[in-house]
Amino acid sequence: RAMRRVSLLGATGSIGDSALDVVARHPDRYAVAALAAHRNVAKLAQLCRRFRPGIAALLDRDAAHALERELAGDRLPTRVLAGPSGLVEAATAAEADTVLAAIVGAAGLEPTLAAARAGKRLLIANKEALVIGGAAFMRAAREGGATLLPIDSEHNAVFQCLPHGYAREPSRAGIRRLILTASGGPFRRRAVEELANVTPDEACAHPNWRMGRKISVDSATMMNKGLEVIEAHWLFGAPVEAIDVVIHPQSIVHSMVEYADGSVLAQLGNPDMRTPIAQALAWPGRIESGVRTLDLASLAGLSFEAPDLARFPCLGLAYDALAAGGAAPVALNAANEIAVAAFLDGSVPFPAIHATSAEVLSRTPCAAVDSIEDALATDAQARRLARSILRLPADAGGVALAA
Ligand code: NAD
Ligand code: MG
Repeated sequence: RAMRRVSLLGATGSIGDSALDVVARHPDRYAVAALAAHRNVAKLAQLCRRFRPGIAALLDRDAAHALERELAGDRLPTRVLAGPSGLVEAATAAEADTVLAAIVGAAGLEPTLAAARAGKRLLIANKEALVIGGAAFMRAAREGGATLLPIDSEHNAVFQCLPHGYAREPSRAGIRRLILTASGGPFRRRAVEELANVTPDEACAHPNWRMGRKISVDSATMMNKGLEVIEAHWLFGAPVEAIDVVIHPQSIVHSMVEYADGSVLAQLGNPDMRTPIAQALAWPGRIESGVRTLDLASLAGLSFEAPDLARFPCLGLAYDALAAGGAAPVALNAANEIAVAAFLDGSVPFPAIHATSAEVLSRTPCAAVDSIEDALATDAQARRLARSILRLPADAGGVALAA
């Protein structure tokens, strides 16, 4: 059994923590080849001392210099890299066979795409990269010979419920639909008129999952589920009408696949990202993840309800964008990133996230997106539009939301 050498993009975040927890349980099977993040010097230094990677990369150049100085006396095997090219090197280095893509937002696209082109075993948490890259990303992964393994919990659940050797053709596999579950987030029962006054901390107080702030806000608007519908479309080749969403507040059933004969296969587990991460790391095998046994008898119940699109209009927007295709999903993601960053820093109220996303979507011309360059141009245009709608400065937010 070969040792896998893992490059972790987004090492200082929530997914980074869960991934390193799993890796550390199996020192005989996984080594850390590279760690990459935005600018958290103290945390990356601590991780370098513990995991001794060959590469540590920070996007922020000043932070990278500080990391180099910080590690100078430590006799580590670690080369410190800086800037976008440093992230790409961390994603493509020969010393890593496995890349875990867990940078938040569009900022993760370039290194994640580079790992796909380099033919890595690619574990994807960075859903925004898939939404922006779309068909061009999937083509690059195929041409590069990459193995894509989803670790977003819903997509990991679907992946586990698909037939062996599934080849992105739902009807040939007898699949009727994919059913993504959603918790409904912190505002599932909040009076809709109160949403105008909710704070970033309230929006980030997810009932079942501890996550980074951007995805937590996306869960509160259910834009997260909308992005996941688009993610499922690209990963599994499912048409928009074959992807359903159901609210399941307990987050125990992580998603389902319904087959032509009426069978519905589900994947269950405690809500803990170490399960999908461990599944993807070890696939097609299985390893311990540290997640406690699911105690079915102590669950009060599992409930399901249809999502209310009046309460969660962002979910409807994402369906519309996917149905429209081309530039629409890319523009939606970009507008959402700008608006969420502005909400998190207190410049705009919560309902502005939907209002801005809807306006950007309606003002984005229908256009085909045939390449990554097309997608990046659409992304940049939509960001400009979102900033002008929100009267934000030209350099406001959107990519650097985290640690
Ligand atoms: P987080 O905010 O906790 O961590 C983000 C990581 O990305 C940090 O290491 C940060 O340094 C890095 N980063 C941010 N901007 C960067 C930039 N410009 N360049 C380089 N690195 C940058 O976020 P998270 O919750 O860990 O989520 C990461 C990704 O995984 C997101 O795309 C999210 O949608 C997805 N995801 C997360 C969860 C979860 O449970 N946290 C579940 C499913 C999917
Ligand atoms: Mg998810």
